[in-house]
Amino acid sequence: MTAARALRGVAYDCDVVVVGGGIVGLATAHALRAARPGLVVTVLEKEPRLATHQSGRNSGVIHSGVYYRPGSLKARLAVRGAAELKKFCAEHGIPHAVPGKLIVATSPAELPRLHELAQRARRNGVPVRELGQAQMAEYEPGVHGVAALRVLTTGQCDFGAVARRLAELVDVRRGAEVVAIDRRPGLGVAIRTARGEVLRARALVNCAGLHSDRIARLAGDDPGLRIVPFRGEFYRLRPERAHLVRGLVYPVPDPAFPFLGVHLTVGLDGEVHIGPNAVLALAREGYDWGVVRPAELADALAYPGLWRMAARHWRAGAGELLRSLSKRAFTAAVRRLLPGIEEDDLLPAPAGVRAQAVRPDGGLVDDFHFVERPHTVHVLNAPSPAATACLPIGQEIAARTLTALAGATADTAGR
Ligand SMILES: Cc1cc2nc3c(=O)[nH]c(=O)nc-3n(C[C@H](O)[C@H](O)[C@H](O)COP(=O)(O)OP(=O)(O)OC[C@H]3O[C@@H](n4cnc5c(N)ncnc54)[C@H](O)[C@@H]3O)c2cc1C
Repeated sequence: MTAARALRGVAYDCDVVVVGGGIVGLATAHALRAARPGLVVTVLEKEPRLATHQSGRNSGVIHSGVYYRPGSLKARLAVRGAAELKKFCAEHGIPHAVPGKLIVATSPAELPRLHELAQRARRNGVPVRELGQAQMAEYEPGVHGVAALRVLTTGQCDFGAVARRLAELVDVRRGAEVVAIDRRPGLGVAIRTARGEVLRARALVNCAGLHSDRIARLAGDDPGLRIVPFRGEFYRLRPERAHLVRGLVYPVPDPAFPFLGVHLTVGLDGEVHIGPNAVLALAREGYDWGVVRPAELADALAYPGLWRMAARHWRAGAGELLRSLSKRAFTAAVRRLLPGIEEDDLLPAPAGVRAQAVRPDGGLVDDFHFVERPHTVHVLNAPSPAATACLPIGQEIAARTLTALAGATADTAGR
């Protein structure tokens, strides 16, 4: 049966279908089940393995909530999410740690922004200490800086392991790529997968990450923005040089960008990762320069917002491109923080691709962005710190979905 014919004589297969089994979709399904235990919720994930995309390819940092505009969804949900996630990891035996981190000013010019970050952190309820050069060196003798902010609550975990544990608590169908959606007011949603299955549901939640704008269009909604894939490339430090970094070390971020800048991270396994940068990927799942999807690229290049974004940020973009193509340029940039390294100390490591929403005027959507339509909730911007904030994001989306379901019931009753 096609998705378009499936809703004529409605008998629902489930109450809610969640498209996308990343950490956000899984946390949403989990929150829906917790809020209404009788609800039938099915997650459709196109990949055979969980955490194939953003949720399994990130820095693994439980952010504390320093950077985000006070009152924003990112600020509120990151602070709450960090606390809930640490508890979840402890309860479910998922390895995690809370080493804290340093945000380091490498020149006097960065001191005002470092101080602003300290104020913002305090407004967000995040405990921080401002350190002078000598105090900073006690934490990180190998790192160059003139001052630092010590953030006490920053943690680490394996977000892929969190996703896999959440998947054990909900119903997930893997290898189920959603290719068609038919939505009828008062009737619900029919969803067809590439395998030809059709599922009828009272509501749909779109958590498709890098493909969330496409899923919105499949459902007949104009997302009003475009997901632009920004690859984040990493290196790892040669093991003999790992002693140069003791914990998590971040630069002072560029306020024009939602990205945090190339940082140094000692992982739970003791390996030091350096990255991620931020370069435009040539495919939504373009994990290196060799992955090019001509149709996706042509579609992206036809989007005026991409060109307006490029015009606004061409200087920063050109620098990122150079550091992506030239390891020497990347090393030179990292040496501002870590002067003791040489090009040969950096070994290749897997990259990730961020799903960043861009508005038609070229502006990068800064906050998390959810859009509700009849029978549908779309998650259209869930970049970092969405892994940190996955549990309260899931609760937030679940609350909106329950409202959509109540509306659907009212619609049905009024027919
Ligand atoms: C390099 C990098 C570093 C990061 N570091 C951090 C960090 O340290 N801390 C932090 O909190 N956050 C970090 N993030 C952000 C974090 O990883 C993401 O915000 C989070 O994983 C988003 O989860 P998601 O479920 O929305 O997306 P995803 O994990 O991408 O999941 C979306 C899922 O939808 C599926 N899907 C897509 N289309 C379809 C379809 N048609 N049918 C069925 N399924 C579909 C995909 O296969 C995918 O599994 C980082 C991200 C990157 C890329």
